[in-house]
Amino acid sequence: MSTKSTEGITPKQCPFCEEEPVTRHNVTFCRNASCGLIEIDSVEEWNTRPIEDKLKEVNAELLELLEDILEWDGILEHSKIRIKAAIKNGDHRK
Ligand SMILES: [Zn+2]
Repeated sequence: MSTKSTEGITPKQCPFCEEEPVTRHNVTFCRNASCGLIEIDSVEEWNTRPIEDKLKEVNAELLELLEDILEWDGILEHSKIRIKAAIKNGDHRK
């Protein structure tokens, strides 16, 4: 039994129980009998996950921002070292 649809699209895991779904005659359904998710007419519809997609989009954006923060933190740390060295070398207040 193939998990791919006739269009060759692999359906995502069941959003409720995470089981691999089954696609037969263009109908996709969860193979877990106790899951309770009813069959869906097309694999495209089965794979439509607007909340999950939005969360992935937000997550990617947050990861980019974290990378920026890490980069700036590195630049700031490098600047601190240079400033400290400049102060040490040029401190004529003593
Ligand atoms: Zn399920």
